[in-house]
Amino acid sequence: MTTPAPGTPSLGADLLAIYRELEAMHAWRGWHWWPDADPFEVIVGSILVQNTAWTNVERALERLRAAEALTPAAMASLSDDQLEDLVRPSGQYRQKARKLRAFLALCDRHGGLDALLALPPDTLRAELLATWGIGPETADCIVCYAACAPVFVVDAYTDRIFTRLGFEPADGRTYAGWQQLFAANLPTDRDLWARYHALVVLHAKHTCRKLRPACDTCTLAARCPTRRSSGRAP
Ligand code: SF4
Repeated sequence: MTTPAPGTPSLGADLLAIYRELEAMHAWRGWHWWPDADPFEVIVGSILVQNTAWTNVERALERLRAAEALTPAAMASLSDDQLEDLVRPSGQYRQKARKLRAFLALCDRHGGLDALLALPPDTLRAELLATWGIGPETADCIVCYAACAPVFVVDAYTDRIFTRLGFEPADGRTYAGWQQLFAANLPTDRDLWARYHALVVLHAKHTCRKLRPACDTCTLAARCPTRRSSGRAP
Protein backbone atom coordinates (compact mmCIF):
# COMPACT_ATOMS: atom_id res chain seq x y z
CA MET A 1 0.00 0.00 0.00
CA THR A 2 1.32 3.40 -0.95
CA THR A 3 0.61 5.91 1.77
CA PRO A 4 -0.92 9.10 0.35
CA ALA A 5 0.33 12.43 1.62
CA PRO A 6 -0.98 13.36 5.09
CA GLY A 7 -4.21 15.27 4.97
CA THR A 8 -5.47 13.57 1.81
CA PRO A 9 -9.05 12.28 1.68
CA SER A 10 -8.03 8.76 0.65
CA LEU A 11 -5.73 8.32 3.64
CA GLY A 12 -8.48 9.50 5.98
CA ALA A 13 -10.95 7.16 4.30
CA ASP A 14 -8.51 4.24 4.65
CA LEU A 15 -7.98 4.97 8.35
CA LEU A 16 -11.73 5.16 8.95
CA ALA A 17 -12.32 1.95 7.01
CA ILE A 18 -9.67 0.19 9.12
CA TYR A 19 -11.30 1.57 12.26
CA ARG A 20 -14.63 0.09 11.24
CA GLU A 21 -12.98 -3.27 10.53
CA LEU A 22 -11.25 -3.24 13.91
CA GLU A 23 -14.50 -2.33 15.64
CA ALA A 24 -16.31 -5.22 13.93
CA MET A 25 -13.52 -7.61 14.93
CA HIS A 26 -12.88 -6.54 18.50
CA ALA A 27 -15.42 -4.15 20.05
CA TRP A 28 -17.31 -7.08 21.58
CA ARG A 29 -14.29 -7.83 23.77
CA GLY A 30 -14.76 -4.61 25.75
CA TRP A 31 -11.91 -2.45 27.00
CA HIS A 32 -10.65 -0.83 30.12
CA TRP A 33 -10.77 2.95 30.60
CA TRP A 34 -14.05 3.23 28.70
CA PRO A 35 -16.43 4.97 29.01
CA ASP A 36 -16.87 5.84 32.69
CA ALA A 37 -13.51 5.12 34.29
CA ASP A 38 -12.41 7.20 37.25
CA PRO A 39 -9.76 9.71 36.03
CA PHE A 40 -7.33 9.04 38.89
CA GLU A 41 -7.57 5.29 38.33
CA VAL A 42 -6.86 5.87 34.64
CA ILE A 43 -3.79 7.90 35.53
CA VAL A 44 -2.49 5.39 38.05
CA GLY A 45 -3.09 2.60 35.53
CA SER A 46 -1.32 4.47 32.75
CA ILE A 47 1.78 4.85 34.94
CA LEU A 48 1.74 1.31 36.32
CA VAL A 49 1.32 -0.29 32.88
CA GLN A 50 4.74 0.89 31.73
CA ASN A 51 6.82 -2.18 30.85
CA THR A 52 4.32 -4.71 32.11
CA ALA A 53 1.10 -6.50 31.15
CA TRP A 54 -2.29 -5.08 32.03
CA THR A 55 -3.10 -8.14 34.14
CA ASN A 56 -0.31 -7.13 36.53
CA VAL A 57 -1.68 -3.60 36.68
CA GLU A 58 -5.12 -4.95 37.54
CA ARG A 59 -3.62 -6.77 40.52
CA ALA A 60 -1.90 -3.61 41.73
CA LEU A 61 -5.07 -1.55 41.24
CA GLU A 62 -7.04 -4.10 43.21
CA ARG A 63 -4.57 -3.82 46.10
CA LEU A 64 -4.77 -0.01 45.98
CA ARG A 65 -8.57 -0.19 45.89
CA ALA A 66 -8.69 -2.57 48.84
CA ALA A 67 -6.42 -0.20 50.79
CA GLU A 68 -8.73 2.73 49.85
CA ALA A 69 -5.71 4.43 48.29
CA LEU A 70 -7.14 5.26 44.86
CA THR A 71 -7.58 8.97 45.48
CA PRO A 72 -4.79 11.56 45.33
CA ALA A 73 -5.18 12.45 49.01
CA ALA A 74 -5.25 8.85 50.20
CA MET A 75 -2.26 7.87 48.08
CA ALA A 76 -0.29 10.90 49.26
CA SER A 77 -0.84 9.85 52.88
CA LEU A 78 0.87 6.49 52.35
CA SER A 79 4.45 5.95 53.37
CA ASP A 80 6.96 5.06 50.67
CA ASP A 81 7.07 1.48 51.93
CA GLN A 82 3.27 1.19 51.88
CA LEU A 83 2.95 2.57 48.35
CA GLU A 84 5.76 0.38 47.03
CA ASP A 85 4.16 -2.68 48.57
CA LEU A 86 0.75 -1.94 47.09
CA VAL A 87 2.05 -1.44 43.54
CA ARG A 88 4.52 -4.36 43.73
CA PRO A 89 2.51 -6.63 41.35
CA SER A 90 3.06 -4.15 38.50
CA GLY A 91 6.86 -4.65 38.62
CA GLN A 92 9.61 -2.03 38.97
CA TYR A 93 7.61 -1.06 42.03
CA ARG A 94 10.10 1.37 43.55
CA GLN A 95 10.34 3.38 40.34
CA LYS A 96 6.60 3.28 39.82
CA ALA A 97 5.89 4.44 43.35
CA ARG A 98 8.29 7.32 42.70
CA LYS A 99 6.50 8.15 39.46
CA LEU A 100 3.16 8.22 41.26
CA ARG A 101 4.67 10.57 43.86
CA ALA A 102 5.91 12.83 41.07
CA PHE A 103 2.41 12.93 39.60
CA LEU A 104 0.88 13.71 43.00
CA ALA A 105 3.35 16.60 43.38
CA LEU A 106 2.23 17.89 39.98
CA CYS A 107 -1.39 17.79 41.18
CA ASP A 108 -0.43 19.73 44.29
CA ARG A 109 1.30 22.43 42.27
CA HIS A 110 -1.89 22.97 40.26
CA GLY A 111 -4.34 22.94 43.17
CA GLY A 112 -5.52 19.35 42.82
CA LEU A 113 -6.38 16.74 40.20
CA ASP A 114 -9.50 18.46 38.87
CA ALA A 115 -7.65 21.73 38.33
CA LEU A 116 -4.78 19.92 36.63
CA LEU A 117 -7.06 18.04 34.24
CA ALA A 118 -8.91 21.28 33.45
CA LEU A 119 -5.78 22.83 31.93
CA PRO A 120 -5.80 23.35 28.15
CA PRO A 121 -4.77 20.01 26.60
CA ASP A 122 -1.47 21.31 25.19
CA THR A 123 -0.54 22.82 28.56
CA LEU A 124 -1.52 19.65 30.41
CA ARG A 125 0.53 17.53 28.01
CA ALA A 126 3.56 19.79 28.48
CA GLU A 127 3.22 19.66 32.27
CA LEU A 128 2.97 15.87 32.18
CA LEU A 129 5.99 15.52 29.90
CA ALA A 130 7.98 17.69 32.31
CA THR A 131 7.13 15.27 35.15
CA TRP A 132 9.60 12.55 36.06
CA GLY A 133 8.62 9.15 34.71
CA ILE A 134 5.99 10.35 32.24
CA GLY A 135 6.76 10.00 28.54
CA PRO A 136 4.65 10.77 25.46
CA GLU A 137 2.53 7.60 25.54
CA THR A 138 1.66 7.93 29.23
CA ALA A 139 1.04 11.68 28.88
CA ASP A 140 -1.29 11.14 25.94
CA CYS A 141 -3.17 8.36 27.73
CA ILE A 142 -3.81 10.77 30.58
CA VAL A 143 -4.86 13.63 28.28
CA CYS A 144 -7.15 11.39 26.21
CA TYR A 145 -8.61 8.99 28.78
CA ALA A 146 -8.55 11.06 32.00
CA ALA A 147 -8.91 14.64 30.72
CA CYS A 148 -11.09 13.48 27.79
CA ALA A 149 -9.31 15.73 25.29
CA PRO A 150 -8.64 14.81 21.64
CA VAL A 151 -5.10 13.44 21.59
CA PHE A 152 -4.26 10.35 19.57
CA VAL A 153 -2.35 7.81 21.67
CA VAL A 154 0.44 5.94 19.89
CA ASP A 155 2.28 2.86 21.07
CA ALA A 156 4.42 0.01 19.76
CA TYR A 157 1.24 -1.79 18.68
CA THR A 158 0.33 1.15 16.43
CA ASP A 159 3.74 0.95 14.76
CA ARG A 160 3.52 -2.81 14.30
CA ILE A 161 0.02 -2.95 12.84
CA PHE A 162 0.17 0.05 10.57
CA THR A 163 3.65 -0.77 9.31
CA ARG A 164 2.36 -4.24 8.39
CA LEU A 165 -0.60 -2.56 6.69
CA GLY A 166 1.81 -0.55 4.55
CA PHE A 167 1.56 2.89 6.16
CA GLU A 168 4.57 5.07 6.78
CA PRO A 169 4.41 8.52 8.37
CA ALA A 170 5.93 11.30 6.30
CA ASP A 171 8.26 12.18 9.17
CA GLY A 172 9.29 8.58 9.84
CA ARG A 173 8.11 5.86 12.20
CA THR A 174 8.48 7.93 15.35
CA TYR A 175 5.92 8.59 18.06
CA ALA A 176 5.28 12.07 16.68
CA GLY A 177 5.21 10.78 13.11
CA TRP A 178 2.45 8.25 13.78
CA GLN A 179 0.51 10.71 15.92
CA GLN A 180 0.59 13.29 13.14
CA LEU A 181 -0.55 10.73 10.57
CA PHE A 182 -3.70 9.89 12.55
CA ALA A 183 -4.45 13.39 13.85
CA ALA A 184 -4.08 15.01 10.42
CA ASN A 185 -6.27 12.50 8.61
CA LEU A 186 -9.07 11.60 11.01
CA PRO A 187 -11.87 13.88 12.19
CA THR A 188 -10.86 15.58 15.45
CA ASP A 189 -13.09 13.51 17.70
CA ARG A 190 -11.89 12.48 21.15
CA ASP A 191 -14.25 9.51 21.41
CA LEU A 192 -13.21 8.20 17.99
CA TRP A 193 -9.53 8.57 18.85
CA ALA A 194 -9.96 6.96 22.26
CA ARG A 195 -11.76 3.99 20.74
CA TYR A 196 -9.29 3.73 17.86
CA HIS A 197 -6.31 3.34 20.20
CA ALA A 198 -8.20 0.83 22.32
CA LEU A 199 -9.00 -1.21 19.20
CA VAL A 200 -5.36 -1.11 18.09
CA VAL A 201 -4.37 -2.57 21.46
CA LEU A 202 -6.98 -5.33 21.17
CA HIS A 203 -5.97 -6.14 17.58
CA ALA A 204 -2.29 -6.38 18.53
CA LYS A 205 -3.02 -8.64 21.48
CA HIS A 206 -5.54 -10.95 19.87
CA THR A 207 -4.84 -10.97 16.13
CA CYS A 208 -1.87 -9.00 14.80
CA ARG A 209 0.47 -10.57 17.33
CA LYS A 210 4.19 -9.91 17.22
CA LEU A 211 5.39 -13.41 16.38
CA ARG A 212 2.33 -15.28 15.16
CA PRO A 213 -0.21 -12.93 13.64
CA ALA A 214 -3.54 -14.63 13.03
CA CYS A 215 -3.82 -13.34 9.47
CA ASP A 216 -6.23 -16.12 8.50
CA THR A 217 -8.82 -14.65 10.87
CA CYS A 218 -8.03 -10.97 10.22
CA THR A 219 -10.57 -9.09 8.12
CA LEU A 220 -7.87 -6.55 7.26
CA ALA A 221 -6.03 -9.24 5.28
CA ALA A 222 -7.53 -8.14 1.96
CA ARG A 223 -5.81 -4.76 2.30
CA CYS A 224 -2.66 -5.97 4.10
CA PRO A 225 0.48 -6.39 1.99
CA THR A 226 2.24 -8.42 4.68
CA ARG A 227 -0.53 -10.89 5.50
CA ARG A 228 0.60 -14.43 5.99
CA SER A 229 -1.59 -17.47 5.42
CA SER A 230 0.82 -19.55 7.52
CA GLY A 231 0.28 -17.37 10.59
CA ARG A 232 4.00 -16.73 10.93
CA ALA A 233 5.34 -13.26 11.58
CA PRO A 234 5.61 -11.06 8.47
S1 SF4 B 1 -3.45 -9.51 7.87
FE1 SF4 B 1 -1.99 -10.25 9.45
S2 SF4 B 1 -0.25 -8.80 9.41
FE2 SF4 B 1 -2.00 -7.83 8.34
S3 SF4 B 1 -3.06 -6.61 9.93
FE3 SF4 B 1 -4.08 -8.62 9.85
S4 SF4 B 1 -3.03 -9.88 11.41
FE4 SF4 B 1 -1.71 -8.09 10.99
